[in-house]
Amino acid sequence: MNVVEGIMVSPGIAIGPACVRAPELLSVPSYEISMGQIPYEIERFQAARAKAVQDIEILLQRGEPEIGDMERKLLDSHLLMLNDPHFQEELVRTLKERRKNVESVLREIEESLAEKLESSGDEYLKERGLDIRDVSNRLLSHLLKQKRGNLADIDRECVLVAHNLLPSDIISMNREKIVGIATDFGGKTSHVAILARAFEIPAVLGLSDITAFVRDQDNVILDGNRGLVIVDPDEATLKGYLTSKEAWQQHELQLLNLNELRAETRDGKLLQLESNIEVPDEIHSVLAHGADGIGLFRSEFLYIVPRKFPDEEEQLQAYNRVLEGMKPRSVTIRTLDLGGDKVIPGVIPGGELNPILGWRAVRFCLSKPDVFKSQLRALLRASVHGNLKIMFPMISGAEELESTLEILEEAKDELRGRGQPFDEHVPIGIMIEVPSAAFTSDILARKVSFFSIGTNDLIQYMIAVDRENERIAYLYEPFHPGVLRLIKMVVDNAHSNGIPVGMCGEMAGDPYAAVILLGLGLDEYSMSAIGIPTIKRIIRSVTIAEAEELVGTIMEMKSSQEIDRYVRAWMGERFDFISQY
Ligand code: PEP
Ligand code: MG
Repeated sequence: MNVVEGIMVSPGIAIGPACVRAPELLSVPSYEISMGQIPYEIERFQAARAKAVQDIEILLQRGEPEIGDMERKLLDSHLLMLNDPHFQEELVRTLKERRKNVESVLREIEESLAEKLESSGDEYLKERGLDIRDVSNRLLSHLLKQKRGNLADIDRECVLVAHNLLPSDIISMNREKIVGIATDFGGKTSHVAILARAFEIPAVLGLSDITAFVRDQDNVILDGNRGLVIVDPDEATLKGYLTSKEAWQQHELQLLNLNELRAETRDGKLLQLESNIEVPDEIHSVLAHGADGIGLFRSEFLYIVPRKFPDEEEQLQAYNRVLEGMKPRSVTIRTLDLGGDKVIPGVIPGGELNPILGWRAVRFCLSKPDVFKSQLRALLRASVHGNLKIMFPMISGAEELESTLEILEEAKDELRGRGQPFDEHVPIGIMIEVPSAAFTSDILARKVSFFSIGTNDLIQYMIAVDRENERIAYLYEPFHPGVLRLIKMVVDNAHSNGIPVGMCGEMAGDPYAAVILLGLGLDEYSMSAIGIPTIKRIIRSVTIAEAEELVGTIMEMKSSQEIDRYVRAWMGERFDFISQY
């Protein structure tokens, strides 16, 4: 038995035989050619390119539900690469320079581009490296007349074990048969992670070398709740997990029974439980989990996947789709949070010394008023198609907020000038994710209609701990007394100014934090859709008085460890299912 720990990205337990997909390395011949053969090699390349374009177009024609919005954008970005004249020029130039067959030149270009991106240490850029490999593999398979291994061909139930998954693998994989996903590479923000959560497939990524010692048909347990993969389990472990799996499924079923019920405490306080989404396709899962609305739509994903700024009409279509699909529930769309760790080569440059403290989110938008206003006009126009709220990320103080609101007014004036309708009273809110905004939340609360606390960034900035750095992950503590005090300050400032306050950082979906947040006075929780029923179950079992008493006790404690121990015991006494988290 071998237990490997990775990054948990999608919850649930999967047990079954492994189907291992080793990295697909087409073996590429390399031989010299004469100058006279170059036109022939270019011709071969163009023929392979035409076939690759055709493959993608056929996939795109499949349409919904197989090819949703996100899949379509990925495939569009691959088409863009295939049709990119710079890429074709680069290939011809290298062909002439090296005088080698086109396959070896293509592999050389792929390696040099992809390696640069993959070694950047940046999740987003690593994903772009994968896109390059994906497109190159597609071209090579046509040049070499070799069939690509296809995950759609998997016809038995199994836990998919792979080095890494290419975006096109995920699009084509047989979702009925793949009960779990384990990969060597990948993190929480990778395409695989986002899709696994959206398709509700338990997944553990970032396992380093799982493909090195798992063989096809090995028995595997994948524990997406703890981030573990157990290879070749002994009988006792297997028995234990079969029971846990059944308990988890029962728990999930019970939770879905809560869909029609409200998130109301035993003493009658009604909370809003909403969902975070990255792509419009996720609304099916949001509705299936009984969300009261969308508390955070990370709109930057509309920009990241196609690697360009979509125009106003394209944005409008995406926003309308979400608003109409969620009606009459509310949808909070956050304006662009690009920059920082989310760079787009050629559109938003990376390379800053401290990108997380750098030119990102609203700072970027304020310096690019045309880009910003195009998004704001699209949002305002969408406001007549549903119940929209607009939210600004990374606001650090009053002046920045004022400049942002001025640009919003300009966008409104432009629409008035065009005679295009919008909701004059669309609620405007801000994320509280920079400590200076939290400390001035009494001032900021007078200018907006709501707050949403972004604990992912707020904690990283408060404790000065990079949220992506595994070596200091032990310092990333949501129950740090400083964090809890700051949340309390923000909630109190919001309430004394008569505005509601929500939370859309990961802490909002942590079952152990649910009662604390209730006691601190939070009004709205927003999280991955799959987390909603659990938080609802907890909220429906307690009273505000109990939650306030718990908060009163832990606010006297000195350290997060002390708080953590106390809260775990407190929750353990009341909720038998909590040990599964
Ligand atoms: C946050 O910072 O808590 C948040 C929700 O935003 P993101 O995770 O997109 O930075
Ligand atoms: Mg943030």
